[in-house]
Amino acid sequence: MCIDLHTHSLYSDGSHTPQELVEFGLRNRLQGLALTDHDTVEGVAELLQYGREVGLAVISGVEISTTLRRHTVHILGYGFDPAWPELDTWLHPLQKGRAKRNESIVTKLQDLDIDISMQDVEAISSEGQTGRPHFAQLLVERGVVANFSAAFEQYLARGKAAWAPRFTYPVSEVIAMIHRMGGVAILAHPGTLDPDIRIVTTLIEELIHHGLDGLEVYYPSHSKQFRRQLMELAKRHQLLVTGGSDFHGATRPSHPLVSHTNGFCPSAALLQPLLNAIASRQADQY
Ligand code: AMP
Ligand code: ZN
Ligand code: FE
Ligand code: FE
Repeated sequence: MCIDLHTHSLYSDGSHTPQELVEFGLRNRLQGLALTDHDTVEGVAELLQYGREVGLAVISGVEISTTLRRHTVHILGYGFDPAWPELDTWLHPLQKGRAKRNESIVTKLQDLDIDISMQDVEAISSEGQTGRPHFAQLLVERGVVANFSAAFEQYLARGKAAWAPRFTYPVSEVIAMIHRMGGVAILAHPGTLDPDIRIVTTLIEELIHHGLDGLEVYYPSHSKQFRRQLMELAKRHQLLVTGGSDFHGATRPSHPLVSHTNGFCPSAALLQPLLNAIASRQADQY
């Protein structure tokens, strides 16, 4: 029995609606599904409503980008009420920061004689938040780069020719906000923090100090050995363990939705401890 607690919809840089994600989840016989769009919860109500209608265990989620020194850190928040009064106001600077950053990327690409306009980016992004993956898609379509990862390596990754910074909250504030809303805070794909496990360990210990609740141990690019090392850390610090595919749709073929047949199956046994932690977080609020 598998779960998938890390997916994106077209409200950020995924290519499917939340309803379609639920349908895929049913088809793949998942025991639990969360939507974790970047810096937005626009799709969460649809996921929750449709999931409940069809009897799939669905969990509210969000993936917030932040930085810790030179490291890009993605924090997953789970189990909060998407209608929490403070939430939209809190997300607004992140969304405005994305819009400003996207304009800088367009300017930088134009300075490099790559003719991509803001209208092109908006057209490809349809709904919600726009991110670098949309630029990567355009660069591939225009034949500027050979593939999606080359778009990052040559232009969009931190420090490359078309990279531009954007507003982020400090990681302590991200975790505190998730807690204020009654959610739990999980470190997404720890394997992308740094290739060196010692550095990852130090960063995780720093994040625990800021209130981190758990680790996304099960992630497609994590090796068995890395998962084992993360499990040891989780045990030592009594952290929750989660897993997910980071499904975005057809643009990311290396990250298909979890299924029983493709060899990547975060266990449904992870679900109950997560739900318990969410319930006790919410009980603490009153
Ligand atoms: P953004 O949220 O706009 O900063 O874009 C970040 C997203 O781009 C991440 O969530 C990844 O899905 C993707 N991404 C970041 N770096 C790379 C990379 N080197 N290769 C492929 N995808 C990447
Ligand atoms: Zn994404
Ligand atoms: Fe991420
Ligand atoms: Fe993600």
